[in-house]
Order: sequence, then C-alpha cells, then structure tokens
Amino acid sequence: MRIVLFGAPGTGKGTQAALLAERRGLRHISTGAMFRDAIRARTPHGRMAQEYVRRGWLVPDEYARDIAEAALLEIGLDGFVLDGYPRTVVQAEWLSAFLTAHDTSLDLVIAMDLCTNCIIERLSMRRMHRETGEHYHLAFKPPPPDVDPDLIVQRQDDRPDAIRSRIEGYWKATRPVVDYYRQQDIIVDVDADGAFEEVYARIEETLAQIAPGPQTA
Ligand code: ADP
Repeated sequence: MRIVLFGAPGTGKGTQAALLAERRGLRHISTGAMFRDAIRARTPHGRMAQEYVRRGWLVPDEYARDIAEAALLEIGLDGFVLDGYPRTVVQAEWLSAFLTAHDTSLDLVIAMDLCTNCIIERLSMRRMHRETGEHYHLAFKPPPPDVDPDLIVQRQDDRPDAIRSRIEGYWKATRPVVDYYRQQDIIVDVDADGAFEEVYARIEETLAQIAPGPQTA
C-alpha cells in the first residue's frame, strides 16, 4: 500500500505514520526526520537545509524531492507511508510523475485535520530526544524516567516564532496540495483530534475500505 499522510505541522503525522509502519508493515519515510538527521550529521544536504528548518520555512522543493526520491528508491515502492512529502503542489506533481515513471501510483492520501489552536498547543508541548530523534509530548507521551533529561530538547522549529512561520507556510504553500489530490479523488479527511489510538482507529477505518488490515481482517 502506498500512502501519503498529509496535514499541518503538529497534526500527528509522524506518530500515526510510525504506527502505520509498525502495524501495516509499511516503510515510513519522513522528510522532516531525514533533514534533521542530515543536519545532525552535517552532510551537504543538512548544511543547506539547516537555516530553513530552524526558522520553520520550507526547504527548497528540489532538495525535498532529492531526499524523498532517494529514500523511495532505497526502500522500493511496494509499501510506504510518506510523512511530510509532498508539501507543495510542485512536489505533488513530481511525486505523481516519479511514481508513474516506476509504473505505480498512490493508493490514498490521508489528510489529518486539526484546529490551529490545538496545533499550537501540541507543538509547544512537544519535545525531542536529541540523539535518537524520538518525539515526546509533555502530557500525553512524556519522556521515560530513565532517559537523561539533558538529552530531551525542544525542537528549534517548535519555538513560537517558528511555529507561526510553519502554520503560515502551511496555509500558503502546502494546503493547495489538498485540491490537487481532491481532483484525483484519492484524498480522505481524518479528524486528528484525540488520543493516539483513537486517531489511529479512524485511519484504520478509512484504510479498511481499500485494504483490510490487522484489526479488520
Ligand atoms: P512538521 O510536520 O511538524 O512541520 P517535519 O518534521 O515534517 O515537521 O518537518 C520539519 C521541517 O523540515 C519543515 O518545517 C521544513 O523546514 C522541512 N521539510 C520537511 N519536509 C519538507 C518538504 N517536503 N519540503 C520542504 N521542506 C520540508
């Protein structure tokens, strides 16, 4: 199954993509996580992306395409969940062309829907393990007590200024991707409010219509 998880920052794409990967046997590709890894490792892509990511701006389309297509080619195109790509209409067009060139296409785009205040609240409560990149939420998924608190940090782009830029950027550059996929009739909306498992159950309900999964088979 080939899925895109789409939504504004903070809607829980990363969490739900990880659950889908684990339970549906899909490969999880997160362009945000790949950029953060590249920044940590100071690769050429990382050095280029650093300022954009820190400020909460979109990285130029070509770099996002490079990193996403390389990951797709590496894992193969049989089963994946893309999280954070595409984020502009140009990226969506490139992804369609890329998949067509490999004789395949997306099965579904899941649009995660959450109110802006909920997004701001979630992002400001979010923390990350500096070395592993694992994400936590101070209330709903606190870091385990055996993790060194010095390694738990706030992402630079989860600070108020960057959050504002990301939400603005989402409405300006990313939201139009929804219309692109509506025209192709492959997008469904999922309410992203609620506990992790509640949201996951909604996603499974949607997926069951195209492919029965572990909980519905
Ligand atoms: P979130 O969805 O919470 O904003 P991500 O981890 O998906 O977080 O992305 C973090 C940052 O990585 C983005 O703000 C942006 O700077 C960069 N990024 C990730 N994916 C893309 C993309 N497809 N195009 C451009 N920039 C991207």
